Amino acid sequence: MWIGIDDTDSSQGMCTTFLVPEIISSLNYDLIGYPRLVRLNPNIPWKTRGNAAIAFKIGEGKGKSKKIGEFRGRDILSFQYGEEIPTTDILDKIKKIVERYAILDDKKTAPGIVISKKKISESIYWKAVRSVVSLDFVMPYLKGLDFYGYKSKRGLIGAAAAIAWKPRIKTYELIAYLPEEKWLQERYVDVNSVIEMDSTVKTTFENYDYRNRHVAIKPETKTPVLFGIRGTDPDDLERARNIVKSDPYLGYIIFETNQGTDDHLVRKNISEIKPYDSVIVKGTVKTRPKTIIGGHLIFKIFDETGSIECAAYEKTKEFREIIKKLMPGDAVIVYGSIKKYPNTINIEKIKIESLADIYKKEIPRCPVCGKKMESAGKGKGYRCRKCGTFKSEPNYVKIERDISPGFYQVPIIARRHLSKPIEFFQVEYIQSSHLHF
Ligand SMILES: [Zn+2]
Repeated sequence: MWIGIDDTDSSQGMCTTFLVPEIISSLNYDLIGYPRLVRLNPNIPWKTRGNAAIAFKIGEGKGKSKKIGEFRGRDILSFQYGEEIPTTDILDKIKKIVERYAILDDKKTAPGIVISKKKISESIYWKAVRSVVSLDFVMPYLKGLDFYGYKSKRGLIGAAAAIAWKPRIKTYELIAYLPEEKWLQERYVDVNSVIEMDSTVKTTFENYDYRNRHVAIKPETKTPVLFGIRGTDPDDLERARNIVKSDPYLGYIIFETNQGTDDHLVRKNISEIKPYDSVIVKGTVKTRPKTIIGGHLIFKIFDETGSIECAAYEKTKEFREIIKKLMPGDAVIVYGSIKKYPNTINIEKIKIESLADIYKKEIPRCPVCGKKMESAGKGKGYRCRKCGTFKSEPNYVKIERDISPGFYQVPIIARRHLSKPIEFFQVEYIQSSHLHF
């Protein structure tokens, strides 16, 4: 039986993922496979924070089991497969837990719970990660299922989408949670231990931004999450956790996630781009990048269907140093997303396919005597002072470009949850089996 939940958090606190260990430890059933942390369209305006929904499967566990977490002093086991259980009163039990933790007085928070014995059509996931889905679109898929939506019921969309996700590729995240009385307090994660973990456990990613000295595993907001370690191998995450020194925690659990997959991106021509899209666009640089107020860099690209503005915002830090070097005529593939206004691609990464040849004018040397010529006036050519030779055109000298074709991405401090790090394009990280036993 699948359980999907979304939208219990607010910009001020809570984290929907916390409900997974909380529910599993209070229901008397087994967890089948890994629980899921599913990120949805990062551009939609009414999302609370990271736009993450959760789903997990429960049953009567069969086959092999392994430990994938600990919570309130007990191990969380995950079973290879399971036998179905009756749905009786499960929705009521989950509602009680959701009501205890969800930030229901935040006007943006509208939790949804979906319970389903079968998978939900995969198309809901793809729509919810790539576009804007209405509740009307989702409701027919919930027919015959147990579900409950609070307030605007918007959380039902993410809850259904998290169950519907059928991973093509996936990564994992181990999340450690603070006890409730510490949720609103400052939390401690030792920087040096994070750096040590980052350099020893090679299958983890986005732990620490060295240039910006930013500990990425520790959330910025005050939530139940103490830290979250991302990786491509779930078994390595346990080792990584043991290296990190921090405040004591209530427990932890490993999720399978769509983070770092680029699932949100769709290849599009410029004329097809709509608000809230996340796109991969092949184009040519039209204007030189300009810095605007706030330190943001803006330039235009074009293809055969039109042109669009691209931006590397201030928060992308040193990434702007690369963007600044682009010149009209450079062939690029831009990966990024669009908010409602302005119609600008917020760049997540860029592939510079080829660089345009750029020339600068230089005063020529005299073709007869070799002396440096002088300008005969604007647009009037050049004259040699020594022998009187005239030349109408300057020399065009090719400029050495201070940048190479290749893939460039924003630093970890500005990385989006769904963005696939460029290192992943070079290695095979697809996890073929559902569970690593
Ligand atoms: Zn001369």
